[in-house]
Amino acid sequence: MQSINPADLAVHRVRHPLKFRLLQVKQVHALTPHLIRVTFTGEDLHDFVSASFDDHIKVFFPEPGADKPVLPQADPEGPVFPEGKRPTARDFTPRRFDRDARELDIEFAMHEAGPAASWAAQAKVGQYLGVGGPRGSLVIPTGFDWHLLIGDDTALPAIARRLEELPAGTRAAAVIEVGDPSAKIEFTTQAELHVVWCYRNESDCRGEAMLQAVRDLYLPEDGEGYVWAAGESATMRAVRYHLCTERGVDKTRIRAASYWKQGAQAVHENLDD
Ligand SMILES: Cc1cc2nc3c(=O)[nH]c(=O)nc-3n(C[C@H](O)[C@H](O)[C@H](O)COP(=O)(O)OP(=O)(O)OC[C@H]3O[C@@H](n4cnc5c(N)ncnc54)[C@H](O)[C@@H]3O)c2cc1C
Repeated sequence: MQSINPADLAVHRVRHPLKFRLLQVKQVHALTPHLIRVTFTGEDLHDFVSASFDDHIKVFFPEPGADKPVLPQADPEGPVFPEGKRPTARDFTPRRFDRDARELDIEFAMHEAGPAASWAAQAKVGQYLGVGGPRGSLVIPTGFDWHLLIGDDTALPAIARRLEELPAGTRAAAVIEVGDPSAKIEFTTQAELHVVWCYRNESDCRGEAMLQAVRDLYLPEDGEGYVWAAGESATMRAVRYHLCTERGVDKTRIRAASYWKQGAQAVHENLDD
């Protein structure tokens, strides 16, 4: 195996000027019964930047009865909210961005309740949403010898984007937990990809299937690898603990995040010690 220059494997952060953008729905497409892709457009996208599949944007929803969201003002110190009131917002992954076409795709995982899931379930062409950020990007080089991507439905957009970006021949594995086989999607990638789909058993603790699939996964003993993981908070903590303490994954080679938390609204936590 050819040795890689360590500088080429440095994970680094990029800051972006804070901006809030008003966007309009151009297209709505159900990828599966559980994942809805919404394509947004708007001139505000002319200077939108998303440097990493790990990025997130804050999506602002209109208040009941309004057709447009109220957006904060971008101040150098941070967002300034109208009359001190925070509008309803949730974090999402910029799944695809095309500057020339002024198009941004966001994919919404459907679940029982919540302003974001409810909005996505009724999304129609012509409706407005607001988007803030990304404020920064964590850029994880593609040049590792192997990549492991772990996540549930909420991480599917980031994982699909990452797989599209990986160069030809890269060794990649993905462990993905969804409700049932109807939630599976096809990935477009030039990587040599091994995918493990696992299915939630609602009578078990959420995440058990995924944790077992990660336990069963072969991890290459050679080469430089990187693990990216996102999903439900308790599950991600268990996955990260297993990889770092039982499988010897170096903590600097894993990025794990809570994308949501059972019983709590709008949770985002990067998991580190
Ligand atoms: C950095 C980042 C990127 C993200 N990218 C995406 C993305 O691209 N696509 C995507 O779909 N989600 C993504 N998420 C997750 C999304 O922000 C959360 O699922 C969010 O809570 C959804 O908001 P809501 O208004 O629907 O539900 P909330 O009002 O936040 O929560 C209502 C209830 O639903 C539960 N809940 C929330 N999400 C789920 C879920 N997925 N399954 C089951 N129960 C749930 C909560 O525990 C709570 O009890 C991302 C999160 C982060 C932090």
